[in-house]
Amino acid sequence: MDRREFLRSGTMLGTFFAVTGGSIISACNAQTAAVGKTNDISLKNDDLPFEKVIKTDAEWKKVLTPEQYRITRQQGTEPPYSSPLNDVKAKGTFVCVCCDLPLFSSKTKFNSHTGWASFYEPIKAVNVGEKVDKSLGIARTEVICNRCDAHLGHVFDDGPEPTGLRYCINGVAMKFIKA
Ligand SMILES: [Zn+2]
Repeated sequence: MDRREFLRSGTMLGTFFAVTGGSIISACNAQTAAVGKTNDISLKNDDLPFEKVIKTDAEWKKVLTPEQYRITRQQGTEPPYSSPLNDVKAKGTFVCVCCDLPLFSSKTKFNSHTGWASFYEPIKAVNVGEKVDKSLGIARTEVICNRCDAHLGHVFDDGPEPTGLRYCINGVAMKFIKA
């Protein structure tokens, strides 16, 4: 590869990263990451109103599909607009796919046009924990199931009233239980 060719391919690579990085950022609006409002993860395990569910990676692999495992146990992200839960408009409860803990009510679901299921608050603050996630080189607030520590998605402060929060959640991390 001569120098010019090298420069050109370098520029293309840069463009590629700018485009893919840009789409992730605009979809999840990373720059407006919410500062942890309900810092439930700091609760001691014996303060929680439920027993923690703790399994080894091998045990999780046995009970989850490969995609559920990748998202919930390895901080994965499903492709936008891929989950059938995005379009659920029925009344009911979204529970953790790993441990069945209720996470979000259909009452707080809204259409964020991001391609991910979005809610303005958890069903109970204590059920959803928060952690700082610096994996994209910027601080975002990761949200997890407080019973089994499953990765669910992220929370941002550009949501609708009454909380102004947007919980951007992977549908793969949840099951919908119709009321
Ligand atoms: Zn869970």
